[in-house]
Amino acid sequence: MTDTLSARPVEAASFTIPQERKVVTAIPGPRSVALHERRLAVVPTGVATTLPVYIEKANGAIVVDVDGNHFIDLGAGIGVTTIGHTNPAVVAAATEQLNKVTHTLFTVTPYEEYVRVAELLAAHTPGDFAKKTVLVNSGAEAVENAVKIARKYTRRVGVGVLDHGYHGRTNLTMAMNFKAAPYSTGFGPFAGDVYHAPNSNPYHDGLSGAEAAKKTIAWFEKTVGAYDLACIVAEPIQGEGGFIVPAEGYLQALQAWCTENGIVYISDEIQSGMARTGAYFASEHFGLVPDMVTSAKGIAGGLPLAGVTGRAEIMDSAFPGGLGGTFGGNPVAAAAAIAVFETIASDNLLAEATRIGQTLTAGLARLAAKYDIIGDIRGIGAMIAIEFVMPGTGATTKEPNAAAVNAITAYAAANGVLVLNAGTYGNVIRFLPSLVISDALLEDALGVFDAAMATL
Ligand SMILES: *Cc1c(COP(=O)(O)O)cnc(C)c1O
Repeated sequence: MTDTLSARPVEAASFTIPQERKVVTAIPGPRSVALHERRLAVVPTGVATTLPVYIEKANGAIVVDVDGNHFIDLGAGIGVTTIGHTNPAVVAAATEQLNKVTHTLFTVTPYEEYVRVAELLAAHTPGDFAKKTVLVNSGAEAVENAVKIARKYTRRVGVGVLDHGYHGRTNLTMAMNFKAAPYSTGFGPFAGDVYHAPNSNPYHDGLSGAEAAKKTIAWFEKTVGAYDLACIVAEPIQGEGGFIVPAEGYLQALQAWCTENGIVYISDEIQSGMARTGAYFASEHFGLVPDMVTSAKGIAGGLPLAGVTGRAEIMDSAFPGGLGGTFGGNPVAAAAAIAVFETIASDNLLAEATRIGQTLTAGLARLAAKYDIIGDIRGIGAMIAIEFVMPGTGATTKEPNAAAVNAITAYAAANGVLVLNAGTYGNVIRFLPSLVISDALLEDALGVFDAAMATL
């Protein structure tokens, strides 16, 4: 692709790596194969790898491996480099901060960047009330802290979660995930007082939001009782679960029930937040005003940072010293996060997320008309997924077709397109491209998927 083909020529001119797909070796290439051999000797097998190509550099929507192959990146490190790889604003802010102060520990001697990130999160999360933020290092740590704070505030212990949810790999969050293998298999004992209720899953349950909410609430009332629930933690769009978008009104009804019963409602926006869906936080699409929001992944352009933002009175319930950690809110990561917020606004990236959603949805609909293994296309903005079913079952049993996903992702990788799977049954392909990707690159990638499906 040349600059003139880009939907955003001004941006295209500033890319340091040509925004085009180019495969020059077998995938993985010889240098990646050699690196992978070294890695297998020293990195445990529990740290799995989707595609063993070793990346040397990246910019915008393109990653380049050590063999010189250019991949269109439709995963963005699982929705992390949302404003593009090596975004110049992030690189500049982080570089400047590295040279000013790299670490003090905010709970020893603080610095402005942490405060600024907290101000930005207060301004951009839903709800017009006083909010406070604690910054930590990872999404799982954010979820852990949200639960800690909700328990301290309510003086209750129960944690409600939804089927097909995903919240991390620490001890508490393993207990909160729907899927055991591979996240928690063999790693017990697990944290207790976690309750898994049925979710809203319109493609499979056919329920309206009101019907699904009734079912979820009845389940919580029977199985644990509102009185013992400190919080409910729910993703507005379930990420690892396969971009399950709940039926209209479902989450609102759930939150209303929480509010009536003194239960803290926590939106896990680690995957769906930070402009991904065309809103700063996906809760907005559902008319939700959560008591607490967790963010991570896309917040700092690739640097490790996560946060819990919530109503001031809830966030203030922990005793001084009860929250924090050595690296939490590191100044370099915080400076990068400020640049991310500024770039979302200056480059109009909420609109770009919507544009990407339209291009992807239209292109995937064309494929669905050709291939009956595409059972469902869903998602909002630049968070779109397709669910694959066995041939002829789309109108009836909707049998999961993980084999198609594996074949298509392998074909795509061999042809220079990096894409992620998802879903409890591994039968979903999810698109989480960076918001600077052009329509031309998306169309190029869609052509590769078309060719991949034609081989099946
Ligand atoms: C990725 C993710 C997490 C865990 O974040 P880590 O940074 O990997 O610990 C939690 N919740 C959701 C919704 C996620 O997508």
